[in-house]
Amino acid sequence: MGGKPASLARECDHILKTKSFRDYPGAKNGLQVSHGRTVKKVGWAVDADLESIRKAGKEKVDLLIVHHGLFWGSSALDRKIRAKRIRLAKRLGVAIYSSHLPLDAHPELGNSIGLLRALGLGDSKRKPFGVAMGRAIGWKVEGGRWRLRDLVNRVALLRCEPRPSRGSSFAGFATRVKIVAAGSVVCRKIGIVTGGFGDLDQVVKTGVDTLITGEVDYPTEVKAKELGINLILGGHRQTEVFGVKALADYLRNIERTHSADD
Ligand SMILES: [Zn+2]
Repeated sequence: MGGKPASLARECDHILKTKSFRDYPGAKNGLQVSHGRTVKKVGWAVDADLESIRKAGKEKVDLLIVHHGLFWGSSALDRKIRAKRIRLAKRLGVAIYSSHLPLDAHPELGNSIGLLRALGLGDSKRKPFGVAMGRAIGWKVEGGRWRLRDLVNRVALLRCEPRPSRGSSFAGFATRVKIVAAGSVVCRKIGIVTGGFGDLDQVVKTGVDTLITGEVDYPTEVKAKELGINLILGGHRQTEVFGVKALADYLRNIERTHSADD
């Protein structure tokens, strides 16, 4: 690869339109750990946690693309965890670039479009849906009829894909999808927002009958049941692998094009 972390980060900010997004207080978008060497290998992880950083170091990744960066939370414990992660990343020579809402929302590389396509809904009619911090970060799919059971199976299949090991001995649990089947068995308006989207107000207002997301809190499950809304909860992490993968691939491709030009 050619560029230094700072120039590749500028490339990412440009394609993702990072500056145009307001994000949650802890979600700083951009380069969070840097170094002055040329990037030879780009990797991805959903979280900038110790395990991901360690793995990146082991695999000689010198730029790690993440969705949940280093700056969530400001308690003493949060700061302690963060300092440890930054120390490890610096020691291993792993630069970290993070993108939260811009990466959820991006119409080509984003998490939500990635999930939508992975569920086989890429050819359906869709509109922006799921506003977070003033902007839509997901999609509403309509114009067809989908059996709830089929949609649940498609989400379950995503979870069976080989994933980076979390060192878990409970691999069987990974195939479980949580559902609240409170609505129609035939879905007509599907809302897709990755991660943890539980804004039922938006779901009701837009007439969405089935919400596919990663997770919601328990009170939201109870309310969805009462409102007759289907929830398909594929897991926070599992629904958010698409954006970081796509952005890492994008960087590898532009680098390939650059070196072909040389
Ligand atoms: Zn998330």
